[in-house]
Amino acid sequence: MKLLLISPRSSEKKSPVGFKIPQLALHILAALTPPDVDTTVLDEQISDIDFSKDYDLIGISIMTATAKRGYNIAQKFKEKESTVIFGGIHASVMPEEAIKYGDSVCIGEAEGIWSDIIDDFKNNSLKKFYKPVPFNLLNAPLPRRHIGVDRSILGYKWPGIYTTRGCPYRCEFCSVSDVYGSKIRHLPIPLVVKDIENADSKIFLMLDDNVAANPRYAKNLFQALAPLGIEWGGQSTITIAKDKELLNLCQQSGCRGLFIGVESVSTASMSRMQKTFKSIRENEDAIKKIQDAGILFHPSFVFGFDDDTTAIFDDTLEFLYKNKITTATFNILTPYPGTKLYHRLKQEERLISEDWNRYNHSSVVFRPRNMTGTELAEGYFNLKKEFYSLTNICRRVTRLTEISHPGLVQFFYSTFNNIAGKQTMLESYNAMNMVS
Ligand code: SF4
Repeated sequence: MKLLLISPRSSEKKSPVGFKIPQLALHILAALTPPDVDTTVLDEQISDIDFSKDYDLIGISIMTATAKRGYNIAQKFKEKESTVIFGGIHASVMPEEAIKYGDSVCIGEAEGIWSDIIDDFKNNSLKKFYKPVPFNLLNAPLPRRHIGVDRSILGYKWPGIYTTRGCPYRCEFCSVSDVYGSKIRHLPIPLVVKDIENADSKIFLMLDDNVAANPRYAKNLFQALAPLGIEWGGQSTITIAKDKELLNLCQQSGCRGLFIGVESVSTASMSRMQKTFKSIRENEDAIKKIQDAGILFHPSFVFGFDDDTTAIFDDTLEFLYKNKITTATFNILTPYPGTKLYHRLKQEERLISEDWNRYNHSSVVFRPRNMTGTELAEGYFNLKKEFYSLTNICRRVTRLTEISHPGLVQFFYSTFNNIAGKQTMLESYNAMNMVS
């Protein structure tokens, strides 16, 4: 039996090779696949699919932005009489849509049921839908890291690791707690250490949604990582700054940068999102603590909340400069299917597109409340242009090199190269096309 596991790219054409976040889920499924199955893992961000090859079973993991491409891939393989099973976050929230293009859909985490799926396929009794319970990470296998991975690609040089799943929060624009559960599950720390030792790298990307979600586990984890001499970047909430011991252990474990969803500098939006820190002052104090600990603070902002007016763009720039932020990510609010935001905007008849290719954080797919779609798109692109202008980048170089390891400096420069460089024209075009 021949199995191909695919993570599709978001467009029909390959985008220029820039920084790529390594995918882990398919490598974990590969580890759970019986050894008699000839298994290939293909990340379409880095490799093209050879449609002339024959496979018995195709597993396609889709996110909203990659769904259309995933459906096209499925159609091509189904013409060759392969069987197609969909999984991933988009298939999990839109199973009735995904099944139109495939033979089966796994709703939720496939790991706990993957060997049954393979058996069902072998016995010609594949079900239309599988709905496994959240996977018990105590029994998690280590990912088969070395299949289908090109370590010459930036980003893939630095393997991804994960330690937790699930999130106790229920942010309106996010479906993580619905799909992965609101209870945090942890990978046993000895398994994390073993995975790192197997991965043949000294720099890692921690792929958890919130690496410090459970401070007690995080402290133990960081203590276990410290002797390994690794460096890593990951995601956390800003509340990590509240616990000095946690923050110091995080830095000592090799953390050089944290991606943190600040989301907005508007106090109205902060309280509507039920953020723990509800004032700019609280955020600024936390940022200083993180920076003083020697960790690069990389905030992420979202524009288009109901309380946002056109003033939000200048307010955000002022906040960034005042707090000496070196790198940041900017997004247009995107109502992903399956989220409460999607249902609300649909009910309010404010969605203007359900073309999933446009659900990419840089296109306006809904009618904002306190500005026009054009104002949202223009404000977003002008802010990015200003923050990532050559002059501004040069101004920030000194500070960035002061606090970060060269490897991570390279990582963050690649990120904003991607953000500010080649993609800008394309994204501008997409966004401007979307506003009426
Ligand atoms: S945005 Fe982050 S904190 Fe909010 S629900 Fe999603 S994962 Fe949790």
